[in-house]
Amino acid sequence: MPLRTAVITHLACLDHLTGDGHPERPERLRAVLHALEDEAFSGLIREQAPEATMEQLTRVHPASYVNEILSIKPGPGKLIDLDPSTVVSDGSAEAALRAAGAAVMAVDAVMEGWARAAFAATRPPGHHAEPSTPGGFCLFSNAAIAAAHARAHWNVKRIAIADFDVHHGQGTQACLEKDPDYFYGSSHQYPLYPGTGFPTERGVAGNVVNVMLQPGTTSEEFREAWAGTILPAIDNFRPDLLIVSAGFDAHRADPLAHIRLDVADFVWITQELLGIADRHTGGKIVSLLEGGYDLDALARSVAAHVRTLMRA
Ligand SMILES: [Zn+2]
Repeated sequence: MPLRTAVITHLACLDHLTGDGHPERPERLRAVLHALEDEAFSGLIREQAPEATMEQLTRVHPASYVNEILSIKPGPGKLIDLDPSTVVSDGSAEAALRAAGAAVMAVDAVMEGWARAAFAATRPPGHHAEPSTPGGFCLFSNAAIAAAHARAHWNVKRIAIADFDVHHGQGTQACLEKDPDYFYGSSHQYPLYPGTGFPTERGVAGNVVNVMLQPGTTSEEFREAWAGTILPAIDNFRPDLLIVSAGFDAHRADPLAHIRLDVADFVWITQELLGIADRHTGGKIVSLLEGGYDLDALARSVAAHVRTLMRA
């Protein structure tokens, strides 16, 4: 039986409301799930995301922070701004638990071996959430939670996170940079939120690699950043598991950034990451949805990403 690809989601992720005009809106996930209904995806294994447990969350976040996030209940129809961009509603706590739980299940899928690749189609995203601080639309640091689960539950030693979202995942980096058996590599536009991710940020052992992209960066320049710097660093790191923070907001149509990628570039980076997985992890790859704010570009990019993970 060919090794299959899993997509993990939960409709509760649609109940995290952020208010009119907010780019990180339920319609994003609706567009993604609609795209994945195409017949081309009939071979996917589809699973419902469980809620992450306190044990899984507190490998990365202090219990006090988790309890604070879970206790925020603005009331029916109401919203609370945790910061100027991070908004929560009554449905946000469960959505965040399912998003983190999907990341954990994606790790279990590839470690138990019922999938070779697993994609978590969830929101809120995670890579801006620091251990004790939400931000940038993120509540829990999903990629770091997935990595910590792989470490604690599956005894995976070396774990690399590749982040091609157009923003720097300062939250993921903050969670992992002090451990030399974790690697974090990111390309991101600068200047842009959150204003971090300088090449001088190298972690404790050169285990963080950041490449800044100028506004207007082309496909060729993006590919050069990965092929010339980040991918060789991941190869040198020799991960036992590869986790991808898959944001699609470097697409040229995205309203939040100014990088000029097309769908073909997301296919290319996905193929390159599969190559790393084949060389080092036995093909095991976990991918987590981060950003992407033009609905059409997001849906087409995710579809192409998942098709590539399926090796179709
Ligand atoms: Zn982003």
